[in-house]
Amino acid sequence: TARRAGGGVHCIYERGMDRASAAQVEMQRDLRHAVARQELQLYFQPKLRADSGELAGVEALLRWHHPKRGMVSPAEFIPVAERFGLIGELGLWVLDEACRHVRLWHEAGLDIPVAVNVSVHQLRQPDLEQRVREALKRHRVPARMLIMEITESVAMEDIEASMRVFDMLDQIGVRLSIDDFGTGYSSLSYLRRLPARQLKIDRSFVRDLDSSLDAQAIVEAVVRLAHALGLKVVAEGVETQDQADILAQLHCDELQGFLFARPMAEHTLLHWLQQRGKPVPPTQVRIEKEL
Ligand code: C2E
Ligand code: MG
Ligand code: MG
Ligand code: MG
Repeated sequence: TARRAGGGVHCIYERGMDRASAAQVEMQRDLRHAVARQELQLYFQPKLRADSGELAGVEALLRWHHPKRGMVSPAEFIPVAERFGLIGELGLWVLDEACRHVRLWHEAGLDIPVAVNVSVHQLRQPDLEQRVREALKRHRVPARMLIMEITESVAMEDIEASMRVFDMLDQIGVRLSIDDFGTGYSSLSYLRRLPARQLKIDRSFVRDLDSSLDAQAIVEAVVRLAHALGLKVVAEGVETQDQADILAQLHCDELQGFLFARPMAEHTLLHWLQQRGKPVPPTQVRIEKEL
């Protein structure tokens, strides 16, 4: 699980296991109280439809406001939570909080689907399906409003076990999304069997789009493959208008990235939604007309 957690953590795991462990033990101790002390918060990052610029949904990203260390990155504390058996509890909190927000937004007249990130450890929780049902019911949220993102490499770890969980969630109506696609080793036959509805192209391919024809070829091929399998394609980490234009031309369905919005606290998200009014970025409309 360390490998999906960004460069810094990756290095710590590889080079100084013991030294890292002391820091991790300390972090783990603080993390145990984070929920009760209300130090956790969900941020939300919009995903926009590439053709119309309409809001397609938001991704919930966990934030930890540590009393002494300030904001701690999930790339740092999620691996610790996984390693020390805390991810189950954190994951349930995220799930509940995400559903609570969908309900709040609905009552304010906004129906915004929410995507939560799910760790492989949660897939091994025998009662995950039950917990998902409970969270949806508690907040009276239809299952189709919930997307669960699973990192590609992680989904591949324990294929048969994950497949059962995915099928159960799919049957409830929860949508499954394959996160960071292109960084793992999915076999095509496995991709075909997964009940996924969505595939998120990893940021590393998006980043090189405006400079590398290879990256364009890869994205183009991934979009074709995904569409042939009936999956929607989301590009993550879109930072420039050029990248957005290319992705729209390659028929990517949804775009997410700092170009449009950073992950935001709930009140900032609502403010952002109000401010943009009729949600059609002109450049993408122009591209659609050119096609
Ligand atoms: P992810 O699910 O792939 O989320 C995307 C990450 O990319 C987020 O980092 C987001 O802030 C960042 N990002 C979005 N747009 C851009 C962009 O245009 N440029 C750049 N450079 N970065 C962008 P964040 O919030 O630090 O989260 C990192 C990872 O931590 C997530 O990657 C996810 O794997 C994990 N994570 C976050 N929240 C949760 C959670 O509630 N549960 C679990 N299990 N994992 C989580
Ligand atoms: Mg994600
Ligand atoms: Mg991602
Ligand atoms: Mg990622």
